[in-house]
Amino acid sequence: GAEIQLENVTKRYPGNAEAAVDDVTMTIPAGKIVILVGPSGCGKTTTMRMINRLIEPTSGRITIDGEDVLALNGDVLRRKIGYAIQQAGLFPHFTVAQNIGVVPGLLKWNRKRIDDRVDELMDLVGLDPAEFRGRYPRQLSGGQQQRVGVARALAADPPVLLMDEPFGAVDPITRGSLQDELLRLQEDLRKTIVFVTHDFDEAVKLGDKIAVLGEKSSIQQYDTPEAILAN
Ligand code: ADP
Ligand code: ADP
Repeated sequence: GAEIQLENVTKRYPGNAEAAVDDVTMTIPAGKIVILVGPSGCGKTTTMRMINRLIEPTSGRITIDGEDVLALNGDVLRRKIGYAIQQAGLFPHFTVAQNIGVVPGLLKWNRKRIDDRVDELMDLVGLDPAEFRGRYPRQLSGGQQQRVGVARALAADPPVLLMDEPFGAVDPITRGSLQDELLRLQEDLRKTIVFVTHDFDEAVKLGDKIAVLGEKSSIQQYDTPEAILAN
């Protein structure tokens, strides 16, 4: 894992009267799962996209292990951060194997290394490669698509995983088993995981720490699930 720091981070979208994220400072410790919970529109996705450099803060600074994300080159950034989102966000015209291999492909791994890694990841998330490698996203259930989404995020073994409601689109039973698998994986992987959810039970189950956010991502509480439940 790698430590992530947000220092006085503010994001204003052009044309909006109010900031989406206003002066947020927080440290996300290496190797831990930190959950962001808060009302719809409070800036959680904006924060995730800023960490992943899909958008830039208007002001303030985001660092990973002390390095400003804006200063990292593209390949380094892709190796550092895996991103999994709601609805899995798979490329519909790519097979499962092609979806999982996107980042290794961008990093110019050779064919054999990519194929081996795809098989390994499919086993890891509980999808039989023999059955599922060649399928297209539309030929998968919602839960299977989310497994592929998580495998894709893990492909280049990044120290940081950003998961934005990654299990939001699946039924409660599948969701429970995906949560169990994530916790099991994390025992070995020890990634720094930032996980957005609306589901407080999910936050308590998965989080080492929970950040309870208010408007514009102002931090209301930031503590262990036990401490937050005690309040
Ligand atoms: P959350 O993920 O917590 O629901 P978002 O980060 O998606 O919140 O949105 C935070 C605020 O920023 C909202 O008021 C939203 O309308 C606004 N917003 C999000 N994306 C954009 C955008 N691309 N352009 C303008 N405003 C946006
Ligand atoms: P879940 O209960 O996990 O959401 P579904 O009921 O959606 O699963 O699907 C059950 C099985 O049928 C899964 O193994 C899935 O891969 C398969 N399946 C679902 N949709 C399709 C499809 N369009 N083509 C091929 N197989 C499918």
